[in-house]
Amino acid sequence: MTIAIIGAGLGGLTLARMLHVHGIDAVVYEREPSPGARGQGGMLDLHTGTGQRALREVGLIDQFHAIARAQGQDMRLLEPDGTLLLQEDTPDDAPLDRPEVDRADLRNLLLGSLPAHAVRWGCVFESAGDGHLRFTDGSRATADLLVGADGANSRVRALLTDALPAHTGQSVVELAVPDIDLTHPDLAAMVGRGNYWVLGNGQSLSAQRNGDGRVRVYLSFYNTAANWFATSGIPLGDPAAARAHLIDLFAGWDPRFTALIAACGDTILPRSITALPAGLTWPSTPGVTLLGDAAHLMPPVGQGANMAMLDGALLGLALAAHPDDFPAAVAAYEREMFDRTGDVGRQPADVQEMLASPDASRKMLAFFRAA
Ligand SMILES: Cc1cc2nc3c(=O)[nH]c(=O)nc-3n(C[C@H](O)[C@H](O)[C@H](O)COP(=O)(O)OP(=O)(O)OC[C@H]3O[C@@H](n4cnc5c(N)ncnc54)[C@H](O)[C@@H]3O)c2cc1C
Repeated sequence: MTIAIIGAGLGGLTLARMLHVHGIDAVVYEREPSPGARGQGGMLDLHTGTGQRALREVGLIDQFHAIARAQGQDMRLLEPDGTLLLQEDTPDDAPLDRPEVDRADLRNLLLGSLPAHAVRWGCVFESAGDGHLRFTDGSRATADLLVGADGANSRVRALLTDALPAHTGQSVVELAVPDIDLTHPDLAAMVGRGNYWVLGNGQSLSAQRNGDGRVRVYLSFYNTAANWFATSGIPLGDPAAARAHLIDLFAGWDPRFTALIAACGDTILPRSITALPAGLTWPSTPGVTLLGDAAHLMPPVGQGANMAMLDGALLGLALAAHPDDFPAAVAAYEREMFDRTGDVGRQPADVQEMLASPDASRKMLAFFRAA
């Protein structure tokens, strides 16, 4: 019995690790040509009950603690006029409830826990049928179980459901200040060691200290159309002009915030945020299933990677418990996954609504105080 996992993201690799621990054959097919071919993005906070639970289940929690940044849990929340609403600094002996970790470090931890041949790089899954998996280079493979861990725009998903991700109304411009301690120590002190949030009327600025000395800056615009980047007039191909345009869009905000945008480097990434319908399910189908964003893509409010990793761990445990009956294992996994992620998928929708509201900062303050 062999298992094919499409996608070497956090979810697919957590599953591969669990199967490896239990001695079950699996191959991960990844479209990227090599582990370092594409930047992995910024920091993630892993929660005790989900992402950290997954790492505990696959025997990697101690290694995770060695790369986690407790101080990344620090949080500052401000209003556009510069009023500080909330500042939470993590004491040195605080429990690691939601430590931040560099996404690339986490992926490398999972990759390093697998045999070298576990991932086949440069294999782009195209379709499945007649007992074969087909890849874009014309090669084929067989498997008793196909797991789509191929992210937001999953190709495996079409085997189970017609559902497609839709624009959530949020458009994000991602920028970064490299080496901020050297180049802009005043802005480094302003952002602090963790997360920095400024929520305004229909738009927000958030910044996040990364483990490599850079601060990533995310400028979000809410209630935007799916084609907003085409119509916004931001000259994305000309970084200096794009920064100037973005600063104009934050006119009237405290000058320290626009100074942060001005300090950013030339990498400017537009992200149109999409999500699958919350609570998406499908009839269990022998031989194929999904995990992570492929199954339940949700807006980026800190749950997607945590859920993807827990999916991977729990699917692996179900397969280890039913090594001769993959359909039973998949059905059990899907029942639990649908319940868990349906509830979580609806929460981000509420948070999105709050972020888009005119008094977002005050609402967020009340949300944090109630949590
Ligand atoms: C800006 C932003 C910030 C976020 N912040 C957080 C956060 O703080 N906390 C959190 O929990 N989540 C966060 N998320 C969500 C999180 O990134 C995702 O939910 C998570 O990465 C999903 O993991 P995955 O393994 O399902 O998919 P991915 O990480 O997307 O991995 C999918 C893999 O499949 C590969 N692949 C795709 N198609 C094919 C194909 N046809 N053939 C072969 N391989 C293929 C891809 O190359 C990729 O390696 C954020 C998302 C965004 C956009």
